[in-house]
Amino acid sequence: TFIMFRYYWYGSKILYSAINSPKSIIFTAILNKDVILNFKEFGFAERLMEGIDASGYEEATPVQEQVIPLIMDGKDVIASAQTGTGKTAAFLLPLINKIITDPHEDHTNNALVIVPTRELAIQIAQHMEGLSYFTSVSSIAVYGGGYGNAFVKEKKALSHGADVVICTPGKMMAHIKMGYVKLGGLKYLVLDEADRMLDMGFYDDIKKIIEALPKNRQTLMFSATMPPKMRDLARQNLNNP
Ligand code: AMP
Repeated sequence: TFIMFRYYWYGSKILYSAINSPKSIIFTAILNKDVILNFKEFGFAERLMEGIDASGYEEATPVQEQVIPLIMDGKDVIASAQTGTGKTAAFLLPLINKIITDPHEDHTNNALVIVPTRELAIQIAQHMEGLSYFTSVSSIAVYGGGYGNAFVKEKKALSHGADVVICTPGKMMAHIKMGYVKLGGLKYLVLDEADRMLDMGFYDDIKKIIEALPKNRQTLMFSATMPPKMRDLARQNLNNP
């Protein structure tokens, strides 16, 4: 099933429309703000709840309310969400929780979050640091144009295995080509602002990175728009989203 979410805020009302494309079912519902979930209802680990509290989040945003239960359930997800909707925490929170609670291999990178720009990579890494502060989940940001010794630091983390790698496509591909990046046990892939990555010409890099990953993984795609090339990417790489 292919689901696309769009959110529009009208005062205290949220107009939520989801388009179920293969069957062309379009449904629209108006939700009141008071249906938004308290974070306690997701069943997150206590140490993660402390990070959520420390970040000052009280209620889940609509995109978090919709997407978090699906990710917790192990589903592949494609969601249309703009910056400012809380989409970053919508994928970081369930990923951090899964890494805390589910068994996973040591000495491998567990989750890969691919983003279009270094600015976005830095921003997501800061979110990650805040939310995972009270957990032992490790993360690293890998992006182009960094300072001189960044490559050495990145190489060390990628060859040892970080829990969450937040990267831009070109820089990540450069590391993968060198052969030391541990991807054998990778379980989660996130493509954030996927339409922007395609606009910026990263299609080939993304395809090559995906080819280097285990097939048995959970894939999440976030995109503001859904052009045909995006649909191809989703069809080829998502499993029953
Ligand atoms: P994003 O759409 O991911 O770029 O997030 C936009 C901003 O909303 C960021 O500054 C987040 O820290 C903040 N944010 C995300 N989720 C919540 C929440 N549930 N409650 C309050 N602020 C949030």
